Amino acid sequence: MPKREVSNRISAAILMYARDRGLDVDDLCRDLPYTSDQLLDRKLWIENTELLTLWQRLEEHTGNAEVGREVGLYAMQQHTFGFLSTILRLSGSPLRLLQKADRLVHYFDPNRVLHLHHVGKTSAIVELKRKSGRPQNRYGCSFARGLLAGIPTLWQLPPATVEDLSCAVTVDHLPPIDGRVYEIDDSDRVFSHPQDNPAERREEGAIAEDGTFGVGEVVYGANACLYRVTWTADTTRAWWQRVFASEADVEGENVANLEQDLRDLEQMYEQLHRFSSRMESVVDERSVALESANSELAELADKLKRQSVLKSEFIADVSHELRTLISAIVGFAELLTSQIYGPLNERQHAACDRIVVNTHTLLHMINDMLDISRLQSGKLELALESVNLRQMLDESLAAIAALAEQKKLALLREIETEVPVSILADRTKIKQMLLNLLTNAIKYTDRGHIKVRLHCPAPGEVAFTVRDTGRGIDENDMPLLFEEYSRVGPNRPDGGTGLGLYLTRKMAELMGGRVEVVSKLDHGSAFTVVLPVRGEELNAIREIDENPSYLDPGRNRLKILVADSNQAAAQFLGLTIQAAGMQVSFCSDGRRLIAQVAEYRPHLLVLDPELKHEDGWNILRRLRETIDTAAIPVVVLGAAGQQELAAAHGAVAFFAKPYEKRELIDCLLSVLGVKEGAQ
Ligand code: ADP
Repeated sequence: MPKREVSNRISAAILMYARDRGLDVDDLCRDLPYTSDQLLDRKLWIENTELLTLWQRLEEHTGNAEVGREVGLYAMQQHTFGFLSTILRLSGSPLRLLQKADRLVHYFDPNRVLHLHHVGKTSAIVELKRKSGRPQNRYGCSFARGLLAGIPTLWQLPPATVEDLSCAVTVDHLPPIDGRVYEIDDSDRVFSHPQDNPAERREEGAIAEDGTFGVGEVVYGANACLYRVTWTADTTRAWWQRVFASEADVEGENVANLEQDLRDLEQMYEQLHRFSSRMESVVDERSVALESANSELAELADKLKRQSVLKSEFIADVSHELRTLISAIVGFAELLTSQIYGPLNERQHAACDRIVVNTHTLLHMINDMLDISRLQSGKLELALESVNLRQMLDESLAAIAALAEQKKLALLREIETEVPVSILADRTKIKQMLLNLLTNAIKYTDRGHIKVRLHCPAPGEVAFTVRDTGRGIDENDMPLLFEEYSRVGPNRPDGGTGLGLYLTRKMAELMGGRVEVVSKLDHGSAFTVVLPVRGEELNAIREIDENPSYLDPGRNRLKILVADSNQAAAQFLGLTIQAAGMQVSFCSDGRRLIAQVAEYRPHLLVLDPELKHEDGWNILRRLRETIDTAAIPVVVLGAAGQQELAAAHGAVAFFAKPYEKRELIDCLLSVLGVKEGAQ
């Protein structure tokens, strides 16, 4: 049983009519289960009682008892019925039009029917009935009157005149109508009296053959109303002329077909309309359910985020503690092997070697976990410095030599000639990536060799490839290889966390590079880390390589720390410093500078006071006040006019930007006591 019975088009017509007359539509809709916007939208089906409320309020606001008729007329004139108006206009003749009027009424309220009793050239008699036998309310009757009057207006003709001829109630429906109670006597005569005053009894008439009786005056609330619709002869003529050239044209099979098509169309339209209303309410319900599910999800996501931060902090703390302890174990084991605590026999030596190797592996795993937590909290940053690739490769090979030796695997290396001696990169991270690949190669290879190759795969790129003759990787496992915690392959040897390759890829990406892999099951694997080297960097590096000062052992030991928030400028200066044969390191974050000075212990600090997060002048003062760092000479790169400020803060030299790099280098060399040209 559908709850909503009446098309919202009537309420929409009411609200549009009210709005046009400057009435407060929200007030009309107060306490109704719909907003005025929803009712104006015309897509709903609403309940009769809600519609009645709207009618009553409109009548109160306008003080017009005939407002129903006016809204009906207005609705026709404004074409508020959309598609239906078009169908009505297409149908053309008064006869057909009035036949359609039945549909029109039915469309608004399926409980009503409109009978056509007579159609003449300029008039018609129609009867509006309720199918259910329930009484009409007077608004419904007068609204129908307005609709009938408005039909000619669809052709922009003057409205018709509509009078009520009579209203009647059926005998099987005798409860009070508009406050009057009806009674039938033995000879089928009908009487009525006001509900609260039986004495005011009056005769209404006799019951007709069809079982209804007419009432003596217009009593809305009757089951049926009879109307006479009258229009002008001009209207008739205009109808014929506008829609069809002559009356003959509207006869025949074509019209019947057209009629049938229109009927079908109408039905389809109505079904569609109802369906879309139903769909809309389903969508509304779903949207509410989705919204609440979304907010629950958002809460959950928030909670997970908080937990993940806590987890990362926990891992960082625990890893840090473990690293400290394990470093101590390695240290003691190394002291034992160095025999400073006394001589070791061969077995003791071998045992100590094992402790060193295993604890190194443990340290490696803990470092991976620390990096993961840094990566997840966005704290994994690059610390750029000049990295001597050959030197780094040898150090890494030395670190895993014992592991390879244990498995009787040969370690080979190849360095192509075009590989630059040094690049500007994060030394610790490059080494970590290389060690990850090397330890994997050893772990997953049982016989044969492991070969590392340093090469330049393309201009502006430098790469290291670790190739092994091990078990290889199944093609299906390839997509999982670089996933966090993912471990693939048949059996998983001890000591793996599934983090190594994930971190290697992340670090390579952090440096603007990538990791590539080629592997075949049972035929070994080759992992390549490719890193970018910018053109200007390569030139400078070449200069470094070709510059004999690089080999000058005196300068080679000199360490310069460049503190500048502009990383590109700092790097470029760094290359020039390297070209002059000195080592360089960088800092862009004011908060870390003091710690970095203490750790790196540079022979000279080049400082741009406009550092990120902390004022460089402040830092300079603090460095001067600390015994350990007070003696480190500082060269300030500042803005014009800051020379005195720099001197007041103890700077040994000042350069206003832009400055000549050559002059700066000369200055550094002279501050550091290296003679000009002593290369
Ligand atoms: P794990 O700590 O397990 O070695 P990784 O992220 O370093 O984690 O490697 C992920 C998986 O990739 C390993 O479990 C292994 O199955 C496979 N793998 C990595 N390197 C090699 C290799 N050189 N040969 C064969 N399989 C490899």
